[in-house]
Amino acid sequence: MPVYKAPVNDTLFVLNDVLGVERYNNLPGYADATPDMIEAIVGEAAKLSEEVLFPLNYSGDQEGCVRHDDGTVSTPKGFKEAYRAYREGGWLGLAVPEEFGGQGLPYVLHCAVGEYTSAANMSLMMYPGLTQGAIAAILVHGTDAQKQTYLPKMVEGIWSGTMNLTEPHCGTDLGLLRAKAVPQADGSYKISGQKIFISAGEHDMTDNIVHLVLARIEGAPEGTKGISLFIVPKFLVREDGSLGARNPVSCGAIEHKMGIHGNATCVMNYDEATGFLIGAENKGLNAMFVMMNEARLGVGLQGLSIAEIAYQNAANYARERIQGRSLSGPKAPDKKADPIIVHPDIRRSLMTIRAFNEAGRAFLLWTALKSDIAHRSPDEKDRQAADDILGLATPILKGVMTDKGFEHAVMAQQVFGGHGYIEEHGMSQYVRDARISMIYEGANGIQALDLVGRKLALNGGRAVMALFKEIGDFCEENRNDEQMAFFTKHLKKGLNDVQASTMWFMQNAMAKPDNAGAGSTDYMHLFGLVVLGYMWAKMAKAAQTGLAGGDGAREDYLKNKLVTARFYMERIMPETALRKARIETGADTMMELAAEAF
Ligand SMILES: Cc1cc2nc3c(=O)[nH]c(=O)nc-3n(C[C@H](O)[C@H](O)[C@H](O)COP(=O)(O)OP(=O)(O)OC[C@H]3O[C@@H](n4cnc5c(N)ncnc54)[C@H](O)[C@@H]3O)c2cc1C
Repeated sequence: MPVYKAPVNDTLFVLNDVLGVERYNNLPGYADATPDMIEAIVGEAAKLSEEVLFPLNYSGDQEGCVRHDDGTVSTPKGFKEAYRAYREGGWLGLAVPEEFGGQGLPYVLHCAVGEYTSAANMSLMMYPGLTQGAIAAILVHGTDAQKQTYLPKMVEGIWSGTMNLTEPHCGTDLGLLRAKAVPQADGSYKISGQKIFISAGEHDMTDNIVHLVLARIEGAPEGTKGISLFIVPKFLVREDGSLGARNPVSCGAIEHKMGIHGNATCVMNYDEATGFLIGAENKGLNAMFVMMNEARLGVGLQGLSIAEIAYQNAANYARERIQGRSLSGPKAPDKKADPIIVHPDIRRSLMTIRAFNEAGRAFLLWTALKSDIAHRSPDEKDRQAADDILGLATPILKGVMTDKGFEHAVMAQQVFGGHGYIEEHGMSQYVRDARISMIYEGANGIQALDLVGRKLALNGGRAVMALFKEIGDFCEENRNDEQMAFFTKHLKKGLNDVQASTMWFMQNAMAKPDNAGAGSTDYMHLFGLVVLGYMWAKMAKAAQTGLAGGDGAREDYLKNKLVTARFYMERIMPETALRKARIETGADTMMELAAEAF
């Protein structure tokens, strides 16, 4: 049977040794997050994940959700109770401001916890995950009355949230959307239309569901300039906060899909449902982007979560499964064969996944820290600098971590041989679950275009130049440190490749945009390799500092960290050259065949 153990020590190493979160105690919420408090919180989250959420992961996948004839939806056995434990533990509002019932703790802590809970049960965690996105949008764009009406109950988790963008004919290109909103005399709107693929659109876990819906007000311009965002609650809310009439919004069907079976993916029908405008008229996409940016980090996190649980199970299996003899002579002579972990090719897989996971964890938490600084720092310059990096890092985190999440779930499945293809080992579920994170919240090809087409040039390239400088400065500062030379040499080479490719785009993609589109996915991965390499260099430095300080209790852990850092630099970082070479071939050959030739 599958196992899961939350990587608490590794999280604490990143938070304390690499990021030094203690240094940020001038930010709201950070003063409360002392090292002891952080350790207690991640420890509790580990317990919840391992003991409450994880035991329902496989059964939830096998059972799935059921839609009944009256349009209600049941979630798998045990989900309701586990959700209640999550909700009552206050996990949903960990980083939400206290005035709305949250705990106001750092978002970085929310992400650390989120890795464990999503690894333990991704389908179940999507219910509160969607709520968190909706909370973020209402916090930023809601009126005071909307905040008071919806946020406390959503933060408490007794109401949940959804995001309704997709329609049958439009997913990526939201300018095509048709759902319509008709203004009413009382200031509300009647919303009509159909949305598809709506995660957590209907379920049995909460008393109310607060749908955030994109629709076009009658007479609004065509395209993205005429889209507004509406709050459409399943049950209308009376003045005193109690639940009133049932709004005509219903689940017409749930999708039969490849994975995340425990999460209800719904077709939602709006039949003149009452909705309330949130944010300005025709500025719905701006409001929705708050939700999407938060959600994109949450989806990048899912990539890491699945790769981690897949890795843990593959490593366990490789230690136990005996098959063949080591190339360098028997390692378990008392047995008829050696455990497969002696084979270099099995090691290649395990080390690759491990190297991405550990750096991915650092990348996630580093990005989340930027989000905290961007939203909480009293210093405007610091806020802006952090926001620049957050905007740049978000599509990379989403695109790279989820591409790798799936690739590495498959790699871990391969370690099991044929047994990986059999459901009861759990590897099949990880592969199936990981696949969706590459698609939703903007397919990864769109993340790559966002990076190349929008984020690079934003504010005259301010963000990208700042990040290149930060990485370059790190290499320079550690140039004379003998122990760091190996790491900075490889990092510098990767940095040169991504800088050269950025320059290539500037020279070759302005006049010919297909060159940007043709190289965008390679560029996103090239950038990801360098940022993850930067994380490895920072982790190597922190590990060396720990070892030099005589941290005996963690000696093995820190030495292993350095081995994995070396593996990343030797075996993974060289891929930057390949990515750069691909980018520089441009679009000509790719675009040459006529459409009929495919
Ligand atoms: C399980 C599941 C859960 C979901 N949950 C939600 C949800 O809660 N709320 C919600 O609103 N939606 C949800 N979605 C929808 C999801 O976000 C969309 O499927 C996704 O955005 C892609 O849209 P699409 O399927 O219409 O694909 P399309 O937009 O048709 O894209 C097809 C392909 O073309 C590529 N492409 C499209 N346009 C371009 C372009 N301009 N340049 C280059 N490539 C392009 C895309 O990258 C993609 O590979 C969910 C989907 C699934 C399957």
